[in-house]
Amino acid sequence: MRPFANTVLAAAAAVLLGSCCTDPVDSTSYFCLGEMSIQDEVGLGNQYAPNIVAQYDGPYHDPEAYQYLNGLIMEMVTHSVRAKDFPWKFTILNSSTPNAFAVPGGHIYITRGLLAAMETEGQFISVMGHELGHVEHRHSHQQMGRQAIGSVVVGAIDTAESSLSGGTTQGLGAQLGAIGTQLLLLRYDRGQETQSDLRGIYYAATMGYDPMEGKKTFEYFQKLEEEMGADQVEFLRTHPLNENRVAEIDAQVRTTHPELIGKPKESFRPYKSNNTTFAGIAKRIAAVEPVYETYDQAMTTLGEGLEKSDKGKVQTALGAMQDCAAKVPGEPLFLTGVGLAQFALEDLGAAKATLSKAVQIDDNRGQSYKLFAPNYYLGLVLHDSKDFTGGLAALKKASALFPMNPAPLFFCGVCAEELKQPSEASKYYQQVVELEGNPEGQYTKKANERLSALGGGAKKSTAR
Ligand SMILES: [Zn+2]
Repeated sequence: MRPFANTVLAAAAAVLLGSCCTDPVDSTSYFCLGEMSIQDEVGLGNQYAPNIVAQYDGPYHDPEAYQYLNGLIMEMVTHSVRAKDFPWKFTILNSSTPNAFAVPGGHIYITRGLLAAMETEGQFISVMGHELGHVEHRHSHQQMGRQAIGSVVVGAIDTAESSLSGGTTQGLGAQLGAIGTQLLLLRYDRGQETQSDLRGIYYAATMGYDPMEGKKTFEYFQKLEEEMGADQVEFLRTHPLNENRVAEIDAQVRTTHPELIGKPKESFRPYKSNNTTFAGIAKRIAAVEPVYETYDQAMTTLGEGLEKSDKGKVQTALGAMQDCAAKVPGEPLFLTGVGLAQFALEDLGAAKATLSKAVQIDDNRGQSYKLFAPNYYLGLVLHDSKDFTGGLAALKKASALFPMNPAPLFFCGVCAEELKQPSEASKYYQQVVELEGNPEGQYTKKANERLSALGGGAKKSTAR
């Protein structure tokens, strides 16, 4: 065979079979479906980030906590092999589900629920170092290659996916159920978890912490698994989160940092400088946790009330959420819950006032992520109040905040129809169909019905 043909064949094989990419941390080769540039990583991360934040009920508002923890994360980044690759971004998510994770492009997250359960700053550094490790190693890209699927599955879940109270995410965003976590969250394998544990140890030791504190997070999740039962923490079953995991970290620290073993606590950060900032933050967040627990329970009650058309349950949920809003004034999440319950009780005036207040508080905070849920529900309330122009505006805003969620787009179409803008409405419905990419999708079915009614005809690929 001529050399040219060989080259062509090799190129074709590379496209069909994938190729070799390089792990940025240890320079080993791994199978991949195609090169992923730093720009690709940044682009994917930026595409997914707002959706993740929306699904986890937006950023937790505690400027002092954010400033301090972000400072630690940015210090950590300076020790990364990929320090200059990304515009690293840290977000505290306002979710009770204990979790920490990272997605390509340098987006790092921890939930309020996990922060509340944290005992020490060294523990925080270790678990976040572990998350940084996944991004540094490009573990998601490696997983994509292994799964050998063409569809873009990005991001990675870590630690626990299931919530403390029953394995379902109860967030307002998640309750909409429009976007599956499996789309956003990819599972790492044991080897990758071990690699990331090593990064957690590296960051803790390099920054002057006791790397043994990294064991605490895994002990915590182990305890959680015992309390809830393995079936409630499904993710943990497929992960090496057991006695071996903790023992392995212990053994690794002893091997890599024998000089640190047995040293007094005072020789490590933050005790060395008597810095109690982290302890104060964890304590403050833990102190309000019972209010969020009440809210989470009320959201479950509200969900049951809506499902069974049980007004009594909706009333109970409303009362509980009003209590929460009184205890933590200015928490837009609680106001959104109150507004949603008022909406369910068809008190449109009250719902509009409450949700508008939630939107206003959130907008005034000037955070880089704004809240999806109050804008979305406000849009629905305005629609029901026959304010279609206002409804469309709120729903467009909501859609921009959670672009992968077809629900606000569908209702944009509904408002546009009411405003006698059939071609605009058709565009929204077409977007719904494209976004869901599934002929049986909940909103695709509805959108196709509307497209047929409008006479424009549904897309051939999805029409029945
Ligand atoms: Zn991990």
